Amino acid sequence: MANLKLSHIYKVYDNGHKAVNDFSIDIADREFIVFVGPSGCGKSTTLRMIAGLETITAGDLFIGDTLVNDMEPKDRDIAMVFQSYALYPHMTVYENMAFGLRNRKMPENEIKERVLKAAKMLDIEDYLERKPKEMSGGQRQRVALGRALVRDPKVFLLDEPLSNLDAKLRAAMRTEITALHKSLQTTFIYVTHDQVEAMTMGTRIVVMKLGYVQQIDTPMNLYNEPYNKFVAGFIGTPQMNFFNVKLKRDGANVFVTFENGDSISVPYEKVCKIHNRYLDGETTVTFGIRPEHITLEKAGDGLKFIVTNVERLGNETIVYGKLGDCLGEFTMKDEGNSIIVKVVDRDDIEVGDVVYAVPNPSKVHFFDAETEVTLMSKIPPYNTVEAKVAGDRMELLGSTVPFPSVFGAAVNGADCVELSIPPQAIVPGNDFHLKVARIEAVDDQRLAYLENGDSYLFALVGEDVREGDDYAFSLLNEKVNLFVDGTEVLKAVEDDVFVTGRFSKKEVRENGQRVLHFFYHVGDYQVEAIPEQGYKINSIDGDACYKNTYRYGVNRDRIRTVEPDEAGLDAKVLALLDYGNTRFARVEAAGQEFLIHVEPDFQAQQVRIAWDSGDISVYSTTIDMKIC
Ligand code: ADP
Repeated sequence: MANLKLSHIYKVYDNGHKAVNDFSIDIADREFIVFVGPSGCGKSTTLRMIAGLETITAGDLFIGDTLVNDMEPKDRDIAMVFQSYALYPHMTVYENMAFGLRNRKMPENEIKERVLKAAKMLDIEDYLERKPKEMSGGQRQRVALGRALVRDPKVFLLDEPLSNLDAKLRAAMRTEITALHKSLQTTFIYVTHDQVEAMTMGTRIVVMKLGYVQQIDTPMNLYNEPYNKFVAGFIGTPQMNFFNVKLKRDGANVFVTFENGDSISVPYEKVCKIHNRYLDGETTVTFGIRPEHITLEKAGDGLKFIVTNVERLGNETIVYGKLGDCLGEFTMKDEGNSIIVKVVDRDDIEVGDVVYAVPNPSKVHFFDAETEVTLMSKIPPYNTVEAKVAGDRMELLGSTVPFPSVFGAAVNGADCVELSIPPQAIVPGNDFHLKVARIEAVDDQRLAYLENGDSYLFALVGEDVREGDDYAFSLLNEKVNLFVDGTEVLKAVEDDVFVTGRFSKKEVRENGQRVLHFFYHVGDYQVEAIPEQGYKINSIDGDACYKNTYRYGVNRDRIRTVEPDEAGLDAKVLALLDYGNTRFARVEAAGQEFLIHVEPDFQAQQVRIAWDSGDISVYSTTIDMKIC
């Protein structure tokens, strides 16, 4: 039994191919985690890194509390089952299952006990004297499972174990492996390209594409709340329908207009998390609706289409069709005009019928046409609010508050600005008051819908805030993006400061021993690296690390100002930035410009700053990768 932690794991193969990017997950003891995605997306590479069959380029892998990056596979207490079974053809089933235990010099009587127990669990007791070639594919896969089982490992890793089996046997083995997981009470990590296997077996699923994790979630959350179009299309059969549409709000409704001019409406309340800028009737967005979330009408409101094929499966009917143009003539070859509908208890639909598709308004999905990310995130990434500026005051959200001087400098005299405010930048305070219309639990956070005219302002609130309350809050101005006439004039201040610098080592003798010390340099300021981090950089880049430059990230709040006689980096103050609630100085140091936090009374022209090595994150400058 074990939990696992993968923290910022990368794999770059020797040919420079980056197969896995920034993979992080905490896997609880006894979870059944499935890695799923199309061929080549990095599933097996990740599994093989966990097994120790592939080196980890960067990142940390913990099994239990132990960092195992450099631990031999045999010492990791894991067992792996391969697609190819990897059985020894000249050995009997018993010998195949006993082989690993004999190598470990386990006493024969204990081996026998374990093999018989595993054989019983897998229902292969009668085959123990057979050779693999005398068995079916399904039986061989059981032997491969048995060989893993006898080792009583902390973690089971399974790499497409069922893909050589026929569909019926695959379905049966799925159930058996799930039952095995339940009875063993051990952590399973399972790789497959088959979304049905993923959905039916996983307690949580990691969806991958081109080396990047797309979403980590429970099967039902992936189905109901896909993070992007890729996940939406990958999970579910037949696949979700996608159409290019334009959205226009009209009071309590949002009209969804298709490329052929047809239009349907959904209640605004169902899609209120979509940012206003997508509801202008001009921006193309991707509309997604699953085949099973559409009903078919013979007449009336809905999306008109002609039926091109009907598959009657008994329990359900799959209807394929093409959307018509606005004159009612059908252009059969048009791309993006196909629709698939899954209906039950309907035998009145025939090829050639003209029917109307009515999407269930509670099941609609919308994605940004370019980034393909959902427009209905559980927590909307930002709110946009208009402010009227008059001198050093601004009026927004029904209150008038000071207009920070940094904002004033950025907007260059404009008297109307837009503030893009992430929910995290709305904090308890006394500047604004809005009524809490609704509170929704999102994972372990609480999202409040604050009534703001005919739409909502989304904020994260504490346990003490209730529906119906008048919520009093302030804005963290430094976390706001500012726009004038649609152009961004001021970016939010990020949490981290990034500076580039070099890396060095120094060899010293301590108590007769050779000891290496490593250092991060920015200009002429150096801090000693935590030894493990130093070794990590050296192991990733070899001796080239002493010639490379690295990007060092430090949380802004962790940057200290120090006295001139202390170790530090001299920084010249270029400007003071007053955000009202907080102040920064724009400084230049070692040829680089960045912002540091300063006290309200700060006036100096020059400042000496310092950071602790424990607060530094190191990034490669040659490849987009966090090293430690
Ligand atoms: P999956 O298991 O999702 O099919 P893999 O993890 O096997 O994908 O491979 C991910 C990517 O890494 C693929 O593009 C593959 O071609 C590449 N790859 C795998 N092994 C190697 C290797 N030894 N050297 C270079 N590239 C590799």
